[in-house]
Amino acid sequence: MLSIQRLIEDIHSQLKPEFGSGKVADYIPELAKVDPHKFGIAVETIDGASFFVGDAEDAFSIQSISKVFGLTLALGKHGDALWRRVGREPSGGSFNSIVQLESENGVPRNPFINAGAIVISDAILAGHRPREAIGQILRFVRYVAEDEAIVVDAAVARSEQRTGFRNMALANYMKSFGNLAHDAELTLGVYFHQCAIAMTCRQLAKAGLFLANGGRMRSGHSIIPRERARRICALMLTCGHYDASGDFAFRVGLPAKSGVGGGILAVAPGLASIAVWSPGLDRHGNSQLGTRALQALAERAGWSIFD
Ligand code: GLN
Repeated sequence: MLSIQRLIEDIHSQLKPEFGSGKVADYIPELAKVDPHKFGIAVETIDGASFFVGDAEDAFSIQSISKVFGLTLALGKHGDALWRRVGREPSGGSFNSIVQLESENGVPRNPFINAGAIVISDAILAGHRPREAIGQILRFVRYVAEDEAIVVDAAVARSEQRTGFRNMALANYMKSFGNLAHDAELTLGVYFHQCAIAMTCRQLAKAGLFLANGGRMRSGHSIIPRERARRICALMLTCGHYDASGDFAFRVGLPAKSGVGGGILAVAPGLASIAVWSPGLDRHGNSQLGTRALQALAERAGWSIFD
């Protein structure tokens, strides 16, 4: 396992000449300020080892990676009833697409596209004020990451609140089909703050460990049943990279979730949790070098769910 450190250092130096490639998300103005040359990798193994390289201790906006934690929390709250409001199929469309919602009566394809994650935020909000719901999500993330220092970046949340016209359209459209219990504005407040959680690669890799470990923390403490961890991983594999999910599975072979902040959280079941960060995105909104780094790591460490 010690060679994992060598491996990620190798990948870091191999990709170094390309740091800065891809396009930083600028539709959320606050994200456009991020240095595109940042690059970090962190690996946490289930038997207790930690490895990291590069900017793995810099906090970045986890954006859509938060949808994994939101889904975990909402399933804990509502169980399988949640699947009446959101599907489990890849959308084959972009992360913020609205087109399928019309023919599918306001029920989003899956919890990892924006429409699906907005429904999940609405489900988490049930019985709470937005502030409490946001607090719940943040507490959950802090708990699984074993780090109380994790916070929501208020400037990013505000920036998205001011410019998230697409997400407003998605929320209002679903509301018209009766698939949103709260005012669109309140639900989006939860969604935007969840996306604006800032974490380092090290914190993120730690937070994803329960998914690699059959639903348990390293301490043995159970977060979710094993079967649920498997199912969340199945959705990460099939839907975690939007319309590039098939290609990601082909190239990397691990369940993973990307975010427009340039992060990717990947899970090697029974082995490790991996977080990478490189802000430059490809045309699907997934980290360009992050994907390359994960492909190299999975290949060279021999990590694949298809063995
Ligand atoms: N907060 C972002 C949005 O709603 C999340 C998108 C993403 O990371 N793919 O547009």
